[in-house]
Amino acid sequence: MSIATDVIIIGAGPCGLFSVFEAGLLKWHCHLIDYLPVPGGQCAEIYPKKPIYDIPGFPSVLAGELVDRLTAQGAPFHPTFSLGERAETLEKLPDGTFKVTTSRQTEVTGHTVLLAGGLGCFEPRKPTIANLADYEDRGVEYIIRDPEIYRNKHVIVGGGGDSALDWTIVLADIAASVCLVHRSAQFRAAPDSVRKAEQLAEAGKITMLTDANVTGLNGNGRLESVEITRNDGSKTTRSTDHYIPLFGLSPKLGPIASWGLGIEKNAVLVDPTTYETAVEGVYAVGDIAEYPNKLKLILSGFHEAAIALNVQYQRLHPEKKHVIKYTTVTGIAELP
Ligand SMILES: Cc1cc2nc3c(=O)[nH]c(=O)nc-3n(C[C@H](O)[C@H](O)[C@H](O)COP(=O)(O)OP(=O)(O)OC[C@H]3O[C@@H](n4cnc5c(N)ncnc54)[C@H](O)[C@@H]3O)c2cc1C
Repeated sequence: MSIATDVIIIGAGPCGLFSVFEAGLLKWHCHLIDYLPVPGGQCAEIYPKKPIYDIPGFPSVLAGELVDRLTAQGAPFHPTFSLGERAETLEKLPDGTFKVTTSRQTEVTGHTVLLAGGLGCFEPRKPTIANLADYEDRGVEYIIRDPEIYRNKHVIVGGGGDSALDWTIVLADIAASVCLVHRSAQFRAAPDSVRKAEQLAEAGKITMLTDANVTGLNGNGRLESVEITRNDGSKTTRSTDHYIPLFGLSPKLGPIASWGLGIEKNAVLVDPTTYETAVEGVYAVGDIAEYPNKLKLILSGFHEAAIALNVQYQRLHPEKKHVIKYTTVTGIAELP
């Protein structure tokens, strides 16, 4: 698939989402690429229900709500998204524009690239099972992209954190059966979610196996059953269509690290007066941008996005006298 836009934004975390608004004020369309299935970056993935206290104008805002508000703020500018795709390569074309190609071979072209990749792509922490790779996307998934895939299927969820418990509760209403397997009897998830899962287990709606691990996978080309080993050493085999180990995600800078941009402290070096990287027309904002005295805070990324896009606008339109326009005066002119 080929997509033509003005600004290619890599990363749909809070800073990528706010960049849509700033680009929209300059009448630029944005296409965002994110490896995660939903926008929001760390706010959506790590702490959606935690309150943030240092967003200007919000004495307190839940991280998930901030994502919703940033999405709404950018909506008049009709951004488009490639979600669940990783930006793999960056190429400068002969006419000076850029092409970014994703893990699903989507090709996005635009005159400006804004890296808003945060700490990098969140990679799942995988269990150590010898033949795990044989069943990846053949019954083993690490991220739930669409819960409907599990309708009327037998599912085993692994883990004891928020993600494992929250999805167990959601899937209880969708799947034919859900079995939660956790290595300990203690859960790290919110007490409310643990209580809810325990109630579902007591009502016979799910099975909860604690002090146990999935230690083996079996099937003929697709997952058919798993071996479960209890901490006392006893083993059982359980038939299943899916095994979803939700052991958390850890960020890795990933492909961006090999794009010939200066990298320091696992981030991209920028000129702190423009937020431009070593490649003209490629900017970095938010957690991925590194410069002296950098503060890895959401508000820093908002400021960096405004500067970077206005600098690029002046470069692409040297003939226009660029004066900052207050939104109180201009309002929001929706993009077509
Ligand atoms: C527990 C916790 C609490 C926090 N509390 C606060 C707080 O109170 N106040 C505050 O200001 N900050 C807080 N932060 C920090 C804040 O979340 C980050 O500063 C912010 O998320 C950075 O936003 P971002 O858009 O730069 O990157 P991120 O939110 O990290 O989003 C980057 C996105 O880029 C994607 N990505 C990366 N590489 C690629 C690629 N190659 N292809 C496709 N997608 C890619 C990732 O999947 C990710 O979704 C907190 C962080 C944590 C973990």
